[in-house]
Amino acid sequence: MKTENSMTRRKALKGLGASMATIAVGSSLAGTAGKYTGSTDNPILENPLNKHPKPPYKKQIQPHPGLASKMDPVPDHGEKSYKGSGRLKGRKALITGGDSGIGRAAAIAYAREGADVAINYLPAEEEDAKQVIALIRDAGRKAVAIPGDITSDDFCKKLVEDAVSQLGGLDILVNNAGYQKSNLSIMDISDESFDATMKTNIYAPFWITRAALPHLPPGSSIIATTSVQAYDPSENLFDYAQTKAANVAYVKSLAKQLGPKGIRVNGVSPGPVWTPLQVCGGQEQDKLIEFGGDTPLGRAGQPAELASIFVQLADNSGSYSTGQIYGAAGGGGHP
Ligand code: NAD
Ligand code: MG
Repeated sequence: MKTENSMTRRKALKGLGASMATIAVGSSLAGTAGKYTGSTDNPILENPLNKHPKPPYKKQIQPHPGLASKMDPVPDHGEKSYKGSGRLKGRKALITGGDSGIGRAAAIAYAREGADVAINYLPAEEEDAKQVIALIRDAGRKAVAIPGDITSDDFCKKLVEDAVSQLGGLDILVNNAGYQKSNLSIMDISDESFDATMKTNIYAPFWITRAALPHLPPGSSIIATTSVQAYDPSENLFDYAQTKAANVAYVKSLAKQLGPKGIRVNGVSPGPVWTPLQVCGGQEQDKLIEFGGDTPLGRAGQPAELASIFVQLADNSGSYSTGQIYGAAGGGGHP
């Protein structure tokens, strides 16, 4: 009896094991209606390896500041792909360098999430800026174009005043504009070029933030675009890398200062991203061909792949995150 019972129990457990396995397989297929099968042609999953163009890229050079529309391939800023869900409804954002690259991706995403958006850019970038203004309007939001050079303190003050008056306030500030000039030797860096790098990447965020702060209510978010260069500087970006390290310190210090005022300060740290910055003197041509090829994902990132980080950092739902740096570098480059 005892033997029979234990046999029966063994059989029952074996049977149960088999049916558990069936349930497990059955539920994974039935519950998802065959969506998450791991197949590479699955329309629900996007394989990051194949999602965007890979090296080798074509050699190309444009005069500074360059136009996204003239790059080959043209960067993907999320024009066709970004879908909003009201995460920033009623918010008012100022984005520097909002005409192209990472700033344009943030501008498109913010507008589709319900924010009114002002963008700043250099007058030479009017062509790119016009496209962004049209995209913001297509999303049903107010678009404000404020061209001008942020290496001037006076212009930075005017930029903030114009943004605040035309948007009717301000609660998201994205200090994203940047200048990057590759030089193989420190001996090749002119005072003029060094100064442009420091003024654009360090002074301008300081001037703009100082002018904006009196207008930012509690709940506002300040976001800086830093870089992997802050942590692992390339030999050819001696001056630029120092400014990106300064941007990290800007985030960490200002977050401590403004936390008690209810204003959050965070940073985004991109790795190699396919933008005009890289094709107008920011990168050596032989490095451009292989751009991002040494990352685990084997390619450069596209601006669209960073947009959701900018949204998350501005969104009320991220309310406990401040003083943080969020990376998007294809798998490498961060501490
Ligand atoms: P981008 O060329 O599209 O954007 C840079 C923008 O900076 C320009 O569009 C321009 O409008 C603005 N700008 C430059 N000088 C200016 C000035 N004097 N006055 C006003 N505006 C000025 O390139 P991007 O790569 O999208 O750059 C955005 C930010 O991303 C920069 O801060 C850059 O340092 C950072 N970043 C880029 C990469 C990358 O691989 N592309 C990697 C890490 C960090
Ligand atoms: Mg540009």
